[in-house]
Amino acid sequence: MFIDVAKIKIVAGKGGDGKVSFHREKYIASGGPDGGDGGRGGSVIFQVDNNLSTLLDFRYKKKYVAPDGENGMGKRMKGKDGADLVIRVPRGTLIRDQETGQILQDMSDDTPFVAAKGGNGGWGNTHFATPTRQAPRFAKPGQPGASLDVTLELKLLADVGLLGFPNVGKSTLLSMVSAARPKIANYHFTTLTPNLGVVRVGEEQSFVMADIPGLIEGASQGAGLGHDFLRHVDRCRLLLHLVDVSGSEGRDPIEDVETINAELAGYSDLLASRPQILVANKVDLLGDDRAPIERLRAYAAEKGFDFLELSAATNQGVRALVMKTWETLQTLPPVIRYEPDFVPQTPASNEREITIEKVEDYYVVGGAWVDKVMGSVNLDDYESRQYMDRMLKNAGVYDRLEAMGVQEGDFVVIGDMEFEYVR
Ligand code: GDP
Ligand code: MG
Repeated sequence: MFIDVAKIKIVAGKGGDGKVSFHREKYIASGGPDGGDGGRGGSVIFQVDNNLSTLLDFRYKKKYVAPDGENGMGKRMKGKDGADLVIRVPRGTLIRDQETGQILQDMSDDTPFVAAKGGNGGWGNTHFATPTRQAPRFAKPGQPGASLDVTLELKLLADVGLLGFPNVGKSTLLSMVSAARPKIANYHFTTLTPNLGVVRVGEEQSFVMADIPGLIEGASQGAGLGHDFLRHVDRCRLLLHLVDVSGSEGRDPIEDVETINAELAGYSDLLASRPQILVANKVDLLGDDRAPIERLRAYAAEKGFDFLELSAATNQGVRALVMKTWETLQTLPPVIRYEPDFVPQTPASNEREITIEKVEDYYVVGGAWVDKVMGSVNLDDYESRQYMDRMLKNAGVYDRLEAMGVQEGDFVVIGDMEFEYVR
């Protein structure tokens, strides 16, 4: 079974909590704070695995959770970091944010991609000692790990693109060499979206061929089939340029080649310089007249293109074309990759933003920073409460509440805790 889309949830590990602890030794009454920091939570990382060719595994397992960091310990001992969870995917897998559909990463090379970062470990009480607070009785809890719903989409990268005017036989060729079943019809512009087919060369060898819709004159200026389609050829390593050598449509094959190559050049120099094999199709229609083939062969030699003759409809020359294509691909660099749409990170400015809303009788104080502060507070501890109070005050939370008309005794929700306001 070929599975090429999967939806999964990834969850990075939580950071370990910081430790509250004090140095103890025989004959020493009370030592200083020595609580260690929590370890970092494990991250969720994607990595290409060449042994995989489908997303089948993801059909059964939907949730991937990296281990948490361990809590800090006494004697300033740091908790162990959570191990990273490595998820292996086939080459060419696009990782998208499920919610927005944006591309987070194109897994087409071997660089690991950290998709969800583990939470930082909390600081042990060692960090909170100051000259006036020599015995801090609080530490910070670890931060939660990032979690994300992603869609994996295996986009077999096309190695080979078929170029050519409508009706020259591109779809026919693709259907002969692969399991793809593109529409074949004797009229122009049948192919409106590219069709991909996997061409098997041997047991373990294959390449991907794309049937690109017929380009027309002016396509590079955005007329008719334009940049959308040129963009597909853009990623191909090799172009097979098909022409109808029989001239059955009354056009001159050499003029066709020059027209299309001018379109490519108008789109990008890079594309125009991509290697091409010129393929003279429909040789069956020529009968004994080999002159058009030889004329095209001479043209190809002059331009430096490889040249092959073919009758896609009768299967003549198809195997030779597949082998030639395979051999040529071995000499070429890998397929071009997608750039990520955005990098998932919270901008620093938003991170410190504090929101205060009046919801019915409540004042609700929120924001990433507030959650962080509240997450580190131990309400049973006087010093910890003082610390929270100072942080909120310095951040202007109280001034803003006053400005909004808060009264003594009103309810205020900060992070996920509820308080009664006291002046
Ligand atoms: P595309 O527009 O380039 O994809 O062309 P198609 O593959 O749809 O083919 C257009 C027409 O040409 C169809 O009627 C095919 O059957 C026909 N055709 C394709 N290849 C050959 C060939 O080698 N010989 C002959 N005689 N007809 C062909
Ligand atoms: Mg077609």
